[in-house]
Amino acid sequence: MTQVASELMGVDATTLVPASERVLADLVDHFDVDFAYLRHTDRKRGVTVLVAEWPRRIDPPTPDPLRVVAFADADSLFRELEEATEPIIIRRGDTVPDYQETIRRSAGLESVVTACVPLVSRGRSSGVLGFIKRGNRDWSPGELNVLKAIAALFAQLQARVEAEERLRYIASHDDLTGLANRRALLEHMESRLRAGEQGPVVTFFLDLDRLKALNDFLGHSAGDTFIRSLSTRLMENLDSDDMIARLGGDEFVIVPAKTMDAVEAELEASRLQQLISQRVSVGTESVSRGVSVGVALGVPGETSVSDVLRRADHALLAAKSGGGNGVVVFTDAMRAQFELQDDVELNLRTAVSDNSLVLHYQPEVDLRTGRIVALEALVRWEHPTRGLLPPGAFVAVAEATNLAGELGRWVIRSACAQFAEWRRRGLAANVVIRINVSPVQLVSLDFVERIEEVLRTYQIDGSSVCLEITEHVVVQDLMRTRLTLRGLKRMGVQIAIDDFGTGYSSLSHLKALPVDAVKIDRGFVQRLGDSNDDLAIVKSIIGLAGSFGLGVVGEGVETPMAARTLVGLGCYRAQGFLIARPLPAAEVEEHLRQGRIPLDLDLPRAGRGVASS
Ligand code: C2E
Ligand code: CA
Ligand code: CA
Repeated sequence: MTQVASELMGVDATTLVPASERVLADLVDHFDVDFAYLRHTDRKRGVTVLVAEWPRRIDPPTPDPLRVVAFADADSLFRELEEATEPIIIRRGDTVPDYQETIRRSAGLESVVTACVPLVSRGRSSGVLGFIKRGNRDWSPGELNVLKAIAALFAQLQARVEAEERLRYIASHDDLTGLANRRALLEHMESRLRAGEQGPVVTFFLDLDRLKALNDFLGHSAGDTFIRSLSTRLMENLDSDDMIARLGGDEFVIVPAKTMDAVEAELEASRLQQLISQRVSVGTESVSRGVSVGVALGVPGETSVSDVLRRADHALLAAKSGGGNGVVVFTDAMRAQFELQDDVELNLRTAVSDNSLVLHYQPEVDLRTGRIVALEALVRWEHPTRGLLPPGAFVAVAEATNLAGELGRWVIRSACAQFAEWRRRGLAANVVIRINVSPVQLVSLDFVERIEEVLRTYQIDGSSVCLEITEHVVVQDLMRTRLTLRGLKRMGVQIAIDDFGTGYSSLSHLKALPVDAVKIDRGFVQRLGDSNDDLAIVKSIIGLAGSFGLGVVGEGVETPMAARTLVGLGCYRAQGFLIARPLPAAEVEEHLRQGRIPLDLDLPRAGRGVASS
């Protein structure tokens, strides 16, 4: 007894079978029987499952008919054992039930005696410890008591292993869907990407499009039902050894067991996409969602788990920003973009403090006279290895990483310092300095105070400064925006809406906000002269601005044709490569000294005067 107890003490799911076999072997020896076995009852499935036997049968058939036996199809002894709590002995001369008969024959035994001792846990049978002896054998009450005690040890062990397994399951599975969770996914990927494993290992990062709408309109349980049916569908249609994990919300990661190259992976992603976009019944509704899939390949021994996941995530982002329901495979071009982003994240903060940011200034003129009416400050980064970076390469990253505030404050301060310096030297007297403000800055609580302080420091009157905000931010947080803009207005600071025309929802908001001017997005201006659509849009923007009493500036004037068209429509203020590119301070100073940038537009007489019809 004590020997068995100590043998079974430290056993867990992985050592259960060998430890049980050792105990069975001891018992076979000790009780002088020919065969011993241990079976567990799985009540949920209504089956009895072979755990261990001794001696092992030589070459059992596959599948082994003895491994899993349904009580419903089992012989009479087994059916009896399903509920039995006391040992059952079958002696020579009793009819031998089929199952025992099978064992007898496959073990090469002649007529046998069988003892079945139920494993009893909390008053219920949870399995059986069985013995078979050739010829005859009697079991004394003492022997049976020992066997019952051993069976009880096995029952305890089984209960403990099951509880441990359950805990392990809970720790590694998502409770809504029963799919693997993040932790199990990471473990799986870790082992797949170990050096020497088969590759490439493909990772699909999936994100349901607009699941939120489902929750919003049909309720949260609808979203849950949807996700659950989707998970079931995935499990049914993928290989059982594929890793399917839910990371929470509407995000899933699939790592197929099969290795694939990029082309195969893309095909597989499309298959997944089709699978997922099939309809699901949610209550009385039948709904479907598109899914965006980001695909990344990892090479075992080379790519780390976090790299593969980040790449897949990045590709997913690209898929989503392409309007959703798309597949994007992580490419070298994306890798470059990715590295740049990493670099920006890492170095931008120091760039702000160590003077590697610079401002260039792009003049804005009155097209009729060429007089410089404003300068727009545009930030650049003199990157130590990548050269001069345009704002498109780092402003968005700054906004995504909490650096927008710092960057923005640097821009405002530097632009005002330079502007004050020009004014002190008698330049830029009638010129307005335009500064771009990112949405994140605008909603920060102390924005107005900060501007006030900078203006005071450099003694600039508010009306010489125009802040440019995008239409997008105006819509996003109207209340907050309105408060901030009012504060700025009190200092006389001008406000322009940048990139106007790219989002139309704010037209109605124009009235509600203290805005001075709109800048027509360069996308419309560039093609003036060869696009009638754009002409119509530009015309209506100018008309709209007029009816609200707002100024208009045309951006992105690249051709004399575009400039002439703007003038013809009554929009005189413009900016663009035709007039001047954004220039370093020293170069723009030349223009400031002249006060104007002569343009040869060959305007009709009316165009040079006041508004033309
Ligand atoms: P934006 O405010 O619309 O600035 C105008 C952009 O158009 C500038 O690009 C300018 O170089 C470019 N541009 C000017 N004339 C022409 C033209 O005739 N043709 C073409 N194709 N382009 C023209 P840049 O300097 O690359 O700036 C891009 C954007 O980055 C800016 O667009 C602005 O939204 C943002 N940005 C620039 N500086 C700052 C800044 O200091 N803070 C913030 N938050 N954003 C900034
Ligand atoms: Ca701008
Ligand atoms: Ca713009």
